[in-house]
Amino acid sequence: MKPKFAMYWASGCGGCEISLLEIHDQILRFAEVFEIVFCPCLVDGKKEDLAKLGDGAIDLTFFNGAIRNQEDEDMARLLRTKSRILVAYGSCAMEGCVPGLSNLSTAADHFEAVYLKNHTTVNPEAVIPGSRSEVAEGILSLPVFAASVRSLDQVVAVDYLVPGCPPEGVQVEKVIETFVGGSPLPPSGSLLGAGERALCEECPRVRNVRRPTRFYRAHQQIPEEGVCLLEQGFICLGPATRSGCGARCPRNNMVCIGCYGPPPGVDDQGAQMIAALGSMLDPGKDCDGEVERTQRLDELFSGIVDPAGTFYTFSLAKSMLGGKVGR
Ligand code: SF4
Ligand code: SF4
Repeated sequence: MKPKFAMYWASGCGGCEISLLEIHDQILRFAEVFEIVFCPCLVDGKKEDLAKLGDGAIDLTFFNGAIRNQEDEDMARLLRTKSRILVAYGSCAMEGCVPGLSNLSTAADHFEAVYLKNHTTVNPEAVIPGSRSEVAEGILSLPVFAASVRSLDQVVAVDYLVPGCPPEGVQVEKVIETFVGGSPLPPSGSLLGAGERALCEECPRVRNVRRPTRFYRAHQQIPEEGVCLLEQGFICLGPATRSGCGARCPRNNMVCIGCYGPPPGVDDQGAQMIAALGSMLDPGKDCDGEVERTQRLDELFSGIVDPAGTFYTFSLAKSMLGGKVGR
């Protein structure tokens, strides 16, 4: 009997499922080794089918997507019960990712923005969808929208974590090899499919040649090839991001926006990036006292128009801040 595999898509974009295809013909080997018992993206299967399986009947489950609503949470709990090994696969499951940025607003803010103040929505009776609605045909239900986005391990115990938005093909191959290669599995709680350093360590751009004198957004300036983007004034999260993708974005003249999460030993990616900036910014030796120094630093930082969205694109839900507290 083949070991059983499941993959589930909670609140995410679907890119993690597609990333599995990046392993090309290795997927055939994977399909040879595992029996796919539940994967709504590939195989027709219902929650009821899953519920009928015995506890621990699934050997390996990749769970992608964040926990945004009650359905996500119910599926996380069900798959935890049914799976021997549960993997938080991709940035949403691992740390909340882009959906986690919605923690900067309350649930009420979201509904107002989407259903009441949206220019493309016609809603004269100001109807906001509820979790239970009685209509002539019967009762309609929708999953309850949670107060905030959570990562998978904020809801259930997780055995392994795989970073990336989505995980890179070469790293996905390594993750798959971990499970099909026959070697002993790494200790529970390990991060799979990533490097052990900060991204800057695998970036080929030259560093320590200049200090940024202002910050640019991507559309304001074309970066020079070969020189560290951060030192040119583009907010590149390399110092606050885990290696593993091969510095894919900086190699293509784009900043790293941090999708591999914080490097080893760092709990809060945004705080790490702010610390990195603090150590490299120089308001100038010719500043005339503290007031002028503060003014120059304020001018420099005014170029960062969305600090929360820039420093926490992927990691807000797992950060120390967590988001905005609704009162
Ligand atoms: S900050 Fe970005 S561009 Fe600079 S070395 Fe690090 S990864 Fe490369
Ligand atoms: S360079 Fe940064 S944003 Fe780009 S793939 Fe790598 S970790 Fe993700």
